[in-house]
Amino acid sequence: MGDDLTFIAYCDLSGLVRGRAIRSVDAMTRLSSGVGWVPADQSITPFGSLGAENPYGPLGDLRLDPDMAPAATWTDERGTLAVHLSSASYPDGGPFDACPRHALRSALDDLESEVGCIVRASFEHEFTVLGGAPAPSFTLRGFRELPWLHDLASAVGAENVLSEFGPGQYEVTLPPTIGMAAADAAVALREQVRELARRHGQHATFSPIVDPAGVGNGVHVHLSLESPGGAPLTHDPQGEAGLSSLMRLFVGGIIDHLPALVAFTAPSAISSLRLAPHRWSAGFACSGVRNREAAVRICPGVAPGGWNVEFRAADAAACPHLVLAALVRAGLSGIRNGLSDMRLIDVDPSDLTDQQREARGIRPLPHSLGAAVDALESDSEAMAWFPPLLTATYLEMKRTELADVAELSEAERCARYAEVY
Ligand code: GLU
Ligand code: MG
Repeated sequence: MGDDLTFIAYCDLSGLVRGRAIRSVDAMTRLSSGVGWVPADQSITPFGSLGAENPYGPLGDLRLDPDMAPAATWTDERGTLAVHLSSASYPDGGPFDACPRHALRSALDDLESEVGCIVRASFEHEFTVLGGAPAPSFTLRGFRELPWLHDLASAVGAENVLSEFGPGQYEVTLPPTIGMAAADAAVALREQVRELARRHGQHATFSPIVDPAGVGNGVHVHLSLESPGGAPLTHDPQGEAGLSSLMRLFVGGIIDHLPALVAFTAPSAISSLRLAPHRWSAGFACSGVRNREAAVRICPGVAPGGWNVEFRAADAAACPHLVLAALVRAGLSGIRNGLSDMRLIDVDPSDLTDQQREARGIRPLPHSLGAAVDALESDSEAMAWFPPLLTATYLEMKRTELADVAELSEAERCARYAEVY
């Protein structure tokens, strides 16, 4: 066994976890002083290229400020590795403008100070284990075929774990937690899955879609609002679809900004293959009670506090902090601007004609990453959700990512994303 190590992990704008390790004997001092980091990291695409127009070049320095408590601890024949999530700051200690965690902190703070409410969230993840002869969907046999589900459930404190619909596909749901902790837990979950698969000589991928003709891997974000004291604010038995007026505005804002939101929440060059009708993901910007083809599914709870809304148009090519930050920003916009039209629908939206959808103001989601990025650029409010440096970095990185895969077929793109996510 070698030295125990402490990995300072940073989930950046690409949704990948990068970082560096220190020896754990030095952790007492280094965890409070942080470690150095490179600003241009924010501009590296999932495929490792760095766009020529990135705002950083070779200049500058950052610090990664880790949490004191580890998000994961792994021991094997190499020693123990403690993984600590971190935020990025400038050398003077001020928050780095393009840090996704700072973006989430600021969105949550604005929601609480302006509206007096906080968000409880839970990220539901699907992933695919590649190779092998898959068992039938949802079966106990499929469940038993993956030897590390017990370890996964205990490592992440899962709410539930199942063998999903697609070949080799599994799902893990995390219990709902407050704001930042929910996004942190999503990052930890992805890394736990990767680690356990690696230990068993397998490759598990969260890529949004593994086979262009197959089932997608979604990330569904369950959201509810509550007072800082914990009083539930999502449900009103008299309200439309059982939602409080506050939650209706929050959902109205999400639906209104959906084309731009997708650039943050489902941001790969293959995400739009999943976001299509009849995939139970989301093809249209609408909401519906218990409707799995709506971008926002309203989920009645067994108890009043259990009511939540599920945002389905997200995937694991997105950084969870950025996903939650963008959803809170969109919800806040709905509250500020009185956007109470949730485009509520009780049928499969693709069963409506174009005219029927138009009459109800139901728009299709962007058909490509390029279209989502364009939608973001033409949504002046969404362009101001985050510090200008974050948005500029993000747009440039996404355009470089599109160039990375421009020459590839759909199937080749899926294969590339499955290697990375
Ligand atoms: N696999 C579907 C998706 O891509 C979700 C299926 C479900 O759990 O409802 O979002
Ligand atoms: Mg599922």
